[in-house]
Amino acid sequence: MARPLIADIDLDALRHNYRLARDLAPHSQALAVLKADAYGHGAVACAHALLDLAPAFAVACIEEAEVLRRAGIDKPIVLLEGIFEATELERVDALGLWVTVHSHWQVDALLSFRPQRPIPTWVKVDSGMHRLGFPVVQLSAVWQRLSAASERVGDLHLMSHFATADTLDDAYFRRQLALLDELAATLGAPTCLANSPATLAWPQAHGAWNRPGVMLYGSDPLQGANDASRRLEPVMTLRSEIIAVRDVEAGEPVGYGGRWTAPRRSRIGVVAAGYGDGYDRHAADGTPVLVDGRRTAIAGKVSMDMLTVDLTDLPDADIGSQVTLWGQGPGEERLSVDEVARHCDTISYTLLTGVLPRVPRRYHGGAS
Ligand SMILES: *Cc1c(COP(=O)(O)O)cnc(C)c1O
Repeated sequence: MARPLIADIDLDALRHNYRLARDLAPHSQALAVLKADAYGHGAVACAHALLDLAPAFAVACIEEAEVLRRAGIDKPIVLLEGIFEATELERVDALGLWVTVHSHWQVDALLSFRPQRPIPTWVKVDSGMHRLGFPVVQLSAVWQRLSAASERVGDLHLMSHFATADTLDDAYFRRQLALLDELAATLGAPTCLANSPATLAWPQAHGAWNRPGVMLYGSDPLQGANDASRRLEPVMTLRSEIIAVRDVEAGEPVGYGGRWTAPRRSRIGVVAAGYGDGYDRHAADGTPVLVDGRRTAIAGKVSMDMLTVDLTDLPDADIGSQVTLWGQGPGEERLSVDEVARHCDTISYTLLTGVLPRVPRRYHGGAS
């Protein structure tokens, strides 16, 4: 029997979540963010599954765009951080990509390059995230330079990123949005501002385009779900099986360092999944796991290839029982990757992008 650990990818759920992002913002176009191999789900498969729905895709770098082009994805692809060196513009032009510009050197490179056709360009302004983008006071001058070069630069959009869209009713978010509204009005610019939390919770931030990422994969980025985010469906189910069972006496430790000690005579199940697969080693005792669709919890430190769960209250569980580490259980029960992340002191993004190549992806659905 093969090692039972598998990442099941439900492409129908991906399509459902994409439609939700689109329907929440009926006056916007939704760019499907496929960076980091579609947050660990497989960018090529996800792009194909969204091809008839999404007007464009977004990735972090040209190498990720090339993977999609080689797989026959011919929709527009936005490079969210633009080029990393000027020589990339040849490939941008040849592949028909759209670029972001966030720094003066990128603008200079773009304006001294002769493309076959004008390159659609998203101008990133730093409205408060203080990571990438031009300072607000420089934006008009940059915008003028680019709009004066229409033989080299195609459609211009104003782009920015929110630092706190996940915290509902947040003053800092409102300050960023007010700045951006004023800037967009002054320039008469179409905007692309909203990430997943802003797509889900801040209709005021919806622009010509939105950039939903993690919500497409079924994770709720909001601090406190809303009606929209409760409709998200998990796309990845990380599943495995119990490969061994043992009884331990009260007081006996389990696993490295004996972090967990049996509070009573206990039944321990060993699951084929560990940090060598990308399951987070920071998972605390008590991190939820489904066994045959019923909730139980991690007991003991995660090892490289295995982890241990408490089966004491699940007497029917045995070798071969199905284990759901996150996603859709075999019955009705679900275990959200967001809940698992909280027990690992992290966020769903790191768990999903962290599933390593050793874990086979198995695709379901997705036919249009
Ligand atoms: C990753 C990314 C997104 C998507 O963010 P989510 O929180 O996953 O929706 C949007 N915009 C930019 C610039 C990004 O880098």
